[in-house]
Amino acid sequence: MNIHEYQAKELLAKFGVGIPAGIPALTVEEAVAAAKRLPGPLYVVKAQIHAGGRGKGKFKELGPDAKGGVRLAKSIDEVEAFAKEMLGNTLVTIQTGEAGKQVNRLYVTDGVDIAKEYYLSMVVDRATGRVALIVSTEGGMDIEEVAHSTPEKITTIVIDPAEGFMPHHGRAVAFALKLKGDLNKQAQVISKQLYEAFVALDCAMLEINPLVETADGNLLVLDTKMSFDSNALYRHPDVVALRDETEEDPAEIEASKYDLAYIKLDGDIGCMVNGAGLAMATMDIIKLNGMFPANFLDVGGGATTEKVTAAFKIILSDPAVKGILVNIFGGIMKCDVIAEGIIAAAKEVNLSVPLVVRLEGTNVELGKELMAKSGLPIVSADNLGDAAAKIVAEVKKAA
Ligand code: GDP
Ligand code: MG
Repeated sequence: MNIHEYQAKELLAKFGVGIPAGIPALTVEEAVAAAKRLPGPLYVVKAQIHAGGRGKGKFKELGPDAKGGVRLAKSIDEVEAFAKEMLGNTLVTIQTGEAGKQVNRLYVTDGVDIAKEYYLSMVVDRATGRVALIVSTEGGMDIEEVAHSTPEKITTIVIDPAEGFMPHHGRAVAFALKLKGDLNKQAQVISKQLYEAFVALDCAMLEINPLVETADGNLLVLDTKMSFDSNALYRHPDVVALRDETEEDPAEIEASKYDLAYIKLDGDIGCMVNGAGLAMATMDIIKLNGMFPANFLDVGGGATTEKVTAAFKIILSDPAVKGILVNIFGGIMKCDVIAEGIIAAAKEVNLSVPLVVRLEGTNVELGKELMAKSGLPIVSADNLGDAAAKIVAEVKKAA
């Protein structure tokens, strides 16, 4: 789960991390009122979307010469003008994809006089099972580009969870950022605070880009992206409350209500599979047969009729879907029960595209018989290769 920049900053501030003063706004009037409460004379109007690269982004509606989603305003009138330009319009950045994201919230902040921009992030490194702290003196830029062309400018510091954040970790951060004197001390303090926040909030990723040194010698978090380990959300109701569903795919939200693991993809073949490994294999074999999956969907071990019906509806709500491939292994579930679920669901949703079903496991013959007798145009397949070849052929035939 992701949250907005202003929400992440407010969370970090609770751990003592320095952030510029700022107020979120949903309307132009709120943005103006926010600016009036800030000291000025420099303000920053920031589009709040769940994607980075806003500064260099472009608004679809405003033409190629318009500025992006992070604007420095020198007066309250400018704050008002920028808020009008941004709210309701679609911001396209390198992270949003071509469709872009509609800007529904702004964050109006106190403009900071920046001396230098640094980079600092933390992720759970799966290889070591530890939190990796990544820092660079080259903040504010595209960190991927730095990693690619000048990897020596990036330092990774790994923290043992049993040991926790030790003073030497803080010194290593300050050294990597080449900071001296008071700024060096501040870097040690802020990196410890950020680590504490990361662990306490069960973050999956925390990126500060840029971490800035202000002209008057302070280290502040100027921009941040924070995402959470969804397996730990149950113990953070305050974080769950920050979820902004308008930023998420409606089909993925619907799927989560039924405990279905669904991720929309760009292809034409809808997939309904039980088990993540089998779902991956199914997607691969569709590709091998020359077409692309429209989604990843794992209905899980206990695929009930209700779940299967919900899954069908979600797959069919995607207008790109030209055919559905069901690939289910009846291990925990029996194949005849699954077949009944598929038949009931296919009838209920008025199936409009070809459907190929491959069942394997307990009571598979009975399951196939039920489908054959259902009167529905279900194509039965014997194995995974056969199933993929059949759905591709059916889709091409229907086209
Ligand atoms: P992003 O483009 O989505 O990463 O948004 P950021 O919040 O990182 O802003 C992009 C850039 O705008 C930063 O790297 C800064 O150079 C600039 N910027 C943002 N806030 C301020 C500010 O308060 N003062 C100044 N001078 N520049 C800012
Ligand atoms: Mg940034």
